[in-house]
Amino acid sequence: MNNHDTNDTNDAYDATFFRAWLGRAAEAVDREADRLTELDSAIGDADHGSNLKRGFAAVTATLDKEAPATPGAVLVAAGRQLISTVGGASGPLYGTLLRRTGKALGDEERVSRAALAEALRTGVAAVSQLGGAQVGDKTMLDALVPAAEALGTSFEAAREAAEAGALATVPLRARKGRASYLGERSVGHQDPGATSSALLVGALAEVAA
Ligand code: ADP
Ligand code: MG
Repeated sequence: MNNHDTNDTNDAYDATFFRAWLGRAAEAVDREADRLTELDSAIGDADHGSNLKRGFAAVTATLDKEAPATPGAVLVAAGRQLISTVGGASGPLYGTLLRRTGKALGDEERVSRAALAEALRTGVAAVSQLGGAQVGDKTMLDALVPAAEALGTSFEAAREAAEAGALATVPLRARKGRASYLGERSVGHQDPGATSSALLVGALAEVAA
């Protein structure tokens, strides 16, 4: 009975679960910040780790203070915080992801994994619309799109899909964001945003397990 992953029909996930997810995500970002910045120094401007570290620290501080009562409100508050604290491209993009996913969840007090998967697909589509990127452009969407799809199956499948999507950015040539200025020279490096997306989805799978 300890496997939320098999809990398809019950509305299993409340605001506390979502706060735990973002807390775990903040820890992962903190732990991996140097690696994210290293990846961004190869094909960007070496600030992805520090950007997200600052953003997620602000997210946890806000959630501790406000303690929003519903899953949707947690994600909306977190997204708003990312937009206002992260200057780089990733702030508005991740902020939009969380805000739009939160809005799509509505004001239910508990949501199912299936409902979260559907809301996440809405959030991911908003990221694609905001940044004009698609799968294969070597961005966070290479991890997020397959993860949102696989979340329809299980949290663990989503984690694996995000991880595989991030690894699959290595041979790609960047077509969006700062890395696209490098053209062919962006080939052979893992995208920082796809890597941080895999961390966020990994944190979700961890708290669900
Ligand atoms: P910046 O590029 O402004 O320095 P960050 O370093 O924090 O911002 O984030 C870089 C990451 O943002 C990239 O690795 C990529 O995954 C993601 N990214 C950049 N532009 C886009 C876009 N148009 N659509 C989706 N993701 C993008
Ligand atoms: Mg950068």
